[in-house]
Amino acid sequence: MIYLLGAGRSGTTLLSAVLHAHKNIHTLGEMHQFPEYLGENKRCSCGRSLDKCEFWSLAIKDMSPDLLKTQDYKDELNKAEAHSRIPGYLLGQKSKKRYDKLQTEILRACSKATKKKWLLDSSKYISRFLLLNRNGELNIKGIYVVRDVRGVVESFGKNVQTPKGPLATLVYYGLINAFGEVVSRLFANVLKVRYEDFVRNPENVVEKILNHLNESDTAGDTLPAEFSMPHIIGGNRMKSERQIRINPEEQWRTRLPRWKQIAYYIGVWPLMIINGYKV
Ligand SMILES: [Zn+2]
Repeated sequence: MIYLLGAGRSGTTLLSAVLHAHKNIHTLGEMHQFPEYLGENKRCSCGRSLDKCEFWSLAIKDMSPDLLKTQDYKDELNKAEAHSRIPGYLLGQKSKKRYDKLQTEILRACSKATKKKWLLDSSKYISRFLLLNRNGELNIKGIYVVRDVRGVVESFGKNVQTPKGPLATLVYYGLINAFGEVVSRLFANVLKVRYEDFVRNPENVVEKILNHLNESDTAGDTLPAEFSMPHIIGGNRMKSERQIRINPEEQWRTRLPRWKQIAYYIGVWPLMIINGYKV
């Protein structure tokens, strides 16, 4: 499987939709929300509830019924995947057997429902990556997506499902990306990608990702100008749009006053410098 890691509002939904256009990649969405979607029979991005969706209805059939009554499983999952667990997992703390078994079962059922070779999970949660990475049943490749903090602050300030103020965003951004940096250095199967490089030159970044997956022989096909949304769990409001365009413009440059740009930059300057962002 392919796992996207990083902070929210870093462009992971866009990247996951673009990668889905590849003939060997099937995007599932933010699978950490799957138990909730399943338990409440929520709507897939196609607009149908999971039991009516053409992909998910197929995948669900192959999952065990005890998983379908999921309140305690949901609680267990949320606890296991909390950000506060990241340091423990980095220091070698183990996951529960039940967690591994259920994740393997869900992913195996998804794998059966699609003909594609790779499943893509865009959950972003680093703790979830660390757990799945240790699951011996999975061959996992991570893609850590980082974005300029000013783009993230500006995006969280818009009318999104989970708005965040600038100060809260800076703290959140600093923590997640500090761990993201550590994970991308510790694990050879994690590739770091900058959101800005991706929107400026998508072909280039997609090719880098395909090399990381050892899929380089399938590179070279030009990307379509528009993408359709796969059947995804979670994701931002982009998922309800039928067509998606890649927009290389960085709106924060015109929307944020200069003094704010500088203040946010200084707030997380080590990360800005490590990732090559200029003031
Ligand atoms: Zn669907």
